[in-house]
Amino acid sequence: MDTNKNITPIKDYSLAQLSELVKEYGQPVFRAGQIAQWLYQAGVSSFDEMTNLPKLLRESLAVEHPLYTPSIIDKLVSQDGTRKYLLSLHDGCLVETVGIPSRDERLTVCFSTQVGCAMGCIFCATGQEGFTRNLSVGEIIDQVLIVQNDFGERVTNLVGMGQGEPFLNYDNVVSALEIINSKKGLGIGARKITLSTCGIIKGIERFSQVKEQYTLAISLHAARQSVRDLIMPHASSNPLSQLKKALLDYINKTNRRITLEYTLISGINDSEKDLTALLSFADGLLCHINLIKLNSVPDSPFQPSSMNTMERWKAAAEQQSIETTIRISKGSDIFGACGQLKNARM
Ligand code: SAH
Ligand code: SF4
Repeated sequence: MDTNKNITPIKDYSLAQLSELVKEYGQPVFRAGQIAQWLYQAGVSSFDEMTNLPKLLRESLAVEHPLYTPSIIDKLVSQDGTRKYLLSLHDGCLVETVGIPSRDERLTVCFSTQVGCAMGCIFCATGQEGFTRNLSVGEIIDQVLIVQNDFGERVTNLVGMGQGEPFLNYDNVVSALEIINSKKGLGIGARKITLSTCGIIKGIERFSQVKEQYTLAISLHAARQSVRDLIMPHASSNPLSQLKKALLDYINKTNRRITLEYTLISGINDSEKDLTALLSFADGLLCHINLIKLNSVPDSPFQPSSMNTMERWKAAAEQQSIETTIRISKGSDIFGACGQLKNARM
């Protein structure tokens, strides 16, 4: 939250902080519930629409706690129904978010947590454009509201796999999830929410203290340190040996199964040695392995591994009794799939 109270946007307040705020305005606490209902259930874009609040309160809030709503400046629809939105934020920054419908009535939002990303993973479009700024609590929640509104149906699932590294914007991300999860907010079950990190150990440690049953996914992509150093140059300051220890601790504390994400890149991280290293990394972890087909990134020299290789890896992991899935991302025809998000106009 902004330290200058007077310009903190209303959607950056946690539900508890909203109660404090209305008290400061000399209002009863139930007003906080009314505001949350307007913001997160009705999805209004101005205080004027909050018709059950006193006019004077609405006017003061509008001046002191602006209600920003990102505008959709571009939208692409994939053949598979996935929609990618380019959003313009109140300061002109651009960020992407993706809505992914599925046949079983799920509607998943792949949300961004930062404008750009500082981690520089060499196979990822976001990593190639560098870091601009963190997204605020409200800007994270707004992505869900925007997708919900555009599809005209409730979002059921959330994955933090858009632009940015969630654990480098930990406080805002976790505060946003609280509101998204709360019945007074968007009411999306914690088990339907997954956060993906490139392995920021401090964040994993903090996340293990969170009581909600969110799912944690780790972008591993290499289980040999030398290969990880090459393809995830900044993430590798969290070495694999320490990462594994942090994951063991996390699983111990939470009893929750994690997902290991591994994008197979031909000739880079898909040798027999890499497979052995992955199986050894996964050994002893309560985990599920998600093998991901590399999505194309403009000007990238990397090619996906063959389907044969992916199937072989899956079989090898399953032989070790590790549940393994192969993921072919949706929305790749509109560059809306994993690792394809960047800020440029579509
Ligand atoms: N920064 C976080 C979350 C965003 S990235 C993280 O790295 O986990 C979301 C997922 O897309 C990660 O697993 C990431 O490694 C993967 N990804 C990045 N580039 C990709 C590409 N070109 N093809 C397929 N997956 C990619
Ligand atoms: Fe950042 Fe994740 Fe892309 Fe790496 S894979 S550059 S951590 S968004």
